[in-house]
Amino acid sequence: MTTAEVKRTQARVEKRANAMTPQVLAMLQRHAQLIEKRALAAAKRKRKLRSPKDLLRKADTLDKIERDLAKIIEVYGLRQLEDSMRRTAKTKVDVPERYTVQLAKQSIFTARRLLARTTKEMTRSVNQVIVDGLAEDPPATEGMIAKRIREQFHGRGGGRVADVKEADMTVTTGRTAMLSTDNGAAWWVSSERARTIAVTEVGEAEEAGKVAGYEAVGASHMKWRSRQWPQGRHQSMDGQTVAIGKKFKYPDGSTGSYPRSPDSPVGHRVNCHCTTVPVFKDV
Ligand SMILES: [Zn+2]
Repeated sequence: MTTAEVKRTQARVEKRANAMTPQVLAMLQRHAQLIEKRALAAAKRKRKLRSPKDLLRKADTLDKIERDLAKIIEVYGLRQLEDSMRRTAKTKVDVPERYTVQLAKQSIFTARRLLARTTKEMTRSVNQVIVDGLAEDPPATEGMIAKRIREQFHGRGGGRVADVKEADMTVTTGRTAMLSTDNGAAWWVSSERARTIAVTEVGEAEEAGKVAGYEAVGASHMKWRSRQWPQGRHQSMDGQTVAIGKKFKYPDGSTGSYPRSPDSPVGHRVNCHCTTVPVFKDV
């Protein structure tokens, strides 16, 4: 793969990720609204939030946000997978069912993991505000604590984000307005974070589509290409060749199906810019 091809691939991933970002952001904001309500109630009682698990155990709304977020990840991922597979195979081909099944499963898992981690971070952060406020001399009033909590969710303006309407979340609308001003709001509810999530998911689907394309054109193997010259952590993997369906081995002995694949350890997925090329040979 030439440098120009790598750049073109990145541009395609970014274009789709940009379209997906406002919808991911809308989900993060709905999730934040859930937590914020409870956080403000805790501020009023001047008590910390209970554990994230207790906090949301009975929240049907959270289940719905999880499903909606998973759907967004799945729909955009599938589009990218289809495009990538078609480009690789250089002909119109249907995505094999096991890829679509895998993608749907992975999307739910990803959405759940993202929101669980976010809930934990939010809870910790809100509790810190409450504890710090109460430790001041004299202790912060509940109004002051509530204001600081709102700032974490909405930025320094402290205003409320307008309620997200159902129509804004529809996957098929393709575009929604940016709802957040990012005015100093916490990372977990920012458009930067929404974009990071979108780029990661679309990028994964792009690589999965390539592998599906190799299969479609009858490649027997694929070869890892490191794109982190001159000192990338996967440089020693450059040229490693595995049969289609088998896993690559990372320098530390862990394995993954392709660069940034969901079954690769997270430390190997983040900021990895490697790719693969097909190999045709009889073994
Ligand atoms: Zn890499």
